Order: sequence, then structure tokens, then C-alpha cells
Amino acid sequence: MSDTTNTGKGRAGSPSFINVASLGRKNVRALLFDMDGVLFDSMKNHAEAWVRAMKANNLVMSHEDVYMNEGRTGEGTIDIFAQAQWGRAATAEEMQYIYKVKSNIFNTLPHVEPVAGALEVLQAVKAMGRQRVIVTGSGQKSLLERLESNFPGIFKAELMVTAFDVQHGKPHPEPYLMGLAKAGISAEEAIVVENAPLGVESAKGAGIFTIAVNTGPLPDKVLYDAGADIVFPNHFALLEALPELVR
Ligand code: MG
Repeated sequence: MSDTTNTGKGRAGSPSFINVASLGRKNVRALLFDMDGVLFDSMKNHAEAWVRAMKANNLVMSHEDVYMNEGRTGEGTIDIFAQAQWGRAATAEEMQYIYKVKSNIFNTLPHVEPVAGALEVLQAVKAMGRQRVIVTGSGQKSLLERLESNFPGIFKAELMVTAFDVQHGKPHPEPYLMGLAKAGISAEEAIVVENAPLGVESAKGAGIFTIAVNTGPLPDKVLYDAGADIVFPNHFALLEALPELVR
């Protein structure tokens, strides 16, 4: 391939040209993967479930709001919308109830498939001898339980950070700092693969080189503005660049 990759997608904003080889990193010991929108094509369902669950509880949330807030814990998302629209914090009971409604709606929606090319990227990372770590704000058990069947032999239970582990959730750096701690590595020895602006912010706050794969409707510019070091339009573009990025 050429040493420049067109990272634009023909969306809003001017296309970006980045020299991938100049971003190549040595001493990488692990890649830290977000789950929703990176491994599972689940964001459409999350957006639909959030919009409906919030509406049922007298809160207005648009589909775009869901993508802009992707990565927060469910409780954190509910609390932000309650503060803005109810003028007060949500109680613990309200947060648990609305999140349960959201999860129940999510589980009635069409089956979620893995994102095209995600398995190939994960297999390539494994073949390169690098660890694979999950760092997700999700507490959606139906997806967490599917990781092994959809991505066999890729992940280890002790190398996962989920909504059940963290106090703060993304965009706070805590989830990615915990991912580094679980893998026993420093920020310089890691690369993050994200799809959401708050996820990118969390990873960059933890000091980690961050690749965004833009699998959703937001323009690339939102991901660059959040701090992404490079944005790819899909996993196949990342797969092609991987040998240059991980030396
Ligand atoms: Mg995501």
C-alpha cells in the first residue's frame, strides 16, 4: 500500500491524509478493544433501546445523543439527562430501573452481528503475539457472554474491564487505566481501538495511542476532535495498516 491512507469517508469535513508508517509503534504488548461499535454492530440497537427507555421515563434522548454519549455507563447517561431535564440527580432506584428497561428493550431487538472485519483484526493481533484486552462501559450481559462464541480464543476473562469494574466509566480515563493494570503494562506499551468520541477521550486521558474505527454515523472530525491519533473507515483498512502501526 502507499504510505498515506485516505482516512476520510466522504462525510462532512475535509478528508484527512495521514502517514501511517510515521505512526508505527514499537514495544506494543497489548491492544485494548472497546466492545460496542468496535466488535459488535450493536449501536443501532443501543440507540433504539435508549431512545425508547428514556421516552417511557419522561426523558428526551435522540439517536444522535446516544452516539455522542456512547461509552458512558448506563447510570452515568441517565443521571446526565435527568439533571438536564428533571433539574435534579436521578436516584439510584431510578437509574437502575431505567437501565433495566433499556436492557430489556435491547434484548427484544434484532440479533446483533459482529462488525465486519473485527474477527480478522483480532486474529491478526493474536498472530502478532500481542495481548487482547476488552475495555467496555457495557453491562449488557447478552453481549459480554457472546465474546467467546463470536471471537473464539481471543479474549481472557481476567483481561476484561466492564461496567461492573469501574466507578466512573468513559470519558474518565479509569476504564483504560484499569485495562493497563489488568494487562500489567504501561500506556506506551498499549494501543486502543475505539469507535466513540467519549471512548477516545478516555483512552487519550490514560495516555494511550488511540485508533478510531468509525463504524457509526458521526463524522470523522468528531473522533479527531476527541483526540484520535488516526481514524479508519472500517476494520479492513485497519487490518491493512496493522503491520505498519504495530512494529
Ligand atoms: Mg464503542
